[in-house]
Amino acid sequence: MSEQTTSWNVALVGGGLAGTLLAVHLARAGHRVAIYERREDVRSARLVKGRSINLALSTRGIHALDEVGLADEVLRQAIPMRGRMIHSERGELSFQRYGKNDGEVIHSVSRNGLNKVLLDAASRITGVSLHFQERCVDVDPTSASAEFENVQTHARRRVETDFVVGADGAFSAVRNRLQRLDGFSYSQSYEAYGYKELTIPPAAGGGFRLEPHALHIWPRRAFMMIALPNTDASFTCTLFLPLEGPHGFASLRSESAVIAYFERWFADALPLMPTLTQDFLAAPASTLVTIRCWPWSVGDKVVLIGDACHTVLPFYGQGMNAAFEDVSVLGACLRGSGDDRQRAFERYAGARKPDVDALAHLALENFVEMRDRVASRSFLLKKRLERGLHRLFPAWYIPLYSLVTFTRTPYAKAMARAHAQARAVRLIVLAGAVILLFAGIYIWR
Ligand code: FAD
Repeated sequence: MSEQTTSWNVALVGGGLAGTLLAVHLARAGHRVAIYERREDVRSARLVKGRSINLALSTRGIHALDEVGLADEVLRQAIPMRGRMIHSERGELSFQRYGKNDGEVIHSVSRNGLNKVLLDAASRITGVSLHFQERCVDVDPTSASAEFENVQTHARRRVETDFVVGADGAFSAVRNRLQRLDGFSYSQSYEAYGYKELTIPPAAGGGFRLEPHALHIWPRRAFMMIALPNTDASFTCTLFLPLEGPHGFASLRSESAVIAYFERWFADALPLMPTLTQDFLAAPASTLVTIRCWPWSVGDKVVLIGDACHTVLPFYGQGMNAAFEDVSVLGACLRGSGDDRQRAFERYAGARKPDVDALAHLALENFVEMRDRVASRSFLLKKRLERGLHRLFPAWYIPLYSLVTFTRTPYAKAMARAHAQARAVRLIVLAGAVILLFAGIYIWR
């Protein structure tokens, strides 16, 4: 491992989750980081529009926050969720624990609250400057310069720097510029589903109207609703529906249609949602996209992190966790590559790409599981078997959900290990069945 001796000037595009965390990592390592964020400062903005109000934070994300001493502060503002609370069509509740004990939980965190903690941490470090309402409009990957437009005044300025980080999310302007380079691969695929965020406010006395230490799921086979708790005792619900068709958003254009739909499918949630029709009809459904691209860097001048280079569906609750893990891995590669930034960028991207590709696959599979299988008997039986095997052979059998959520096993390895475990269990079950069959034949004779 070679020592880093130079201090760099970094233009970091996107002051969202991954960008601000990386700024803290880089500034602590002695580099000067200028964050350019298109939006207002969330710490002072009256209303910040954006995706998902709260998010599930788990082991990988916590680890990356812990590396810069921020995990405790973030977890103090989070609500632990011990498992899934399944709401049947008839309003019956059943609880499925996520881990083997209360040490294995996921945490509901506010996106803005988390962003504020990260921005505060970044702004406390000498060497970090914050520039809000500055939208990146161009990047020159050969000279590491970037152009920004002020969203109020439309004034433009070009910034010369040592390298540019694209942390500007799924519709990244930095990546968009790289897409014009020879040999740059890019793909995006949209689901036929969309989502809307709805609210369950606190009860009249200020308490939670549902169990707070659970992620609530209303699985309805072709669609579903989930709800995560907030610290003000409200819940943010996310309704995932097909965009078209009889059960889709397109058929729900009036207050009466929305109420009738909820009466039919989410009857136990309806009385808890006094602002349902306003929330529902206020904005169009957001779309769900998976984005892949390669390469993630150009020489030692530009590098991408987070959703800018890998946008996954939200169903494993891992997009932000994976983006934070990028920060960890990129930080380690930079520390371990001396002054050879290009090598560090290539090592980081080479290490992460197979894992985020695996995550994209897992996130899609988990959508089917959450909306369709979680309420089925075979799923419950499988989960019980998994828990039993994990308890009996903790070193050998770890359920896939636990590997992804409660360990830092690289996603691709977690997926391969889960497949191997499933094959072994199938073999054991088959062998058991054969033994029973022969025993039966023997006794019968
Ligand atoms: P972002 O958080 O999108 O940040 C990008 C930043 O760049 C933004 O602040 C944006 O304003 C700024 N920006 C964009 N363009 C420009 C520009 N041209 N110039 C300057 N700034 C710009 N992940 C989880 O781990 N757990 C969950 O429970 C979870 N739930 C989710 C639920 C939903 C409905 C969705 C859609 C996603 C969910 N995710 C979850 C995924 C998570 O939101 C993302 O993976 C995460 O936000 C990625 O962080 P990022 O910093 O890469 O991008």
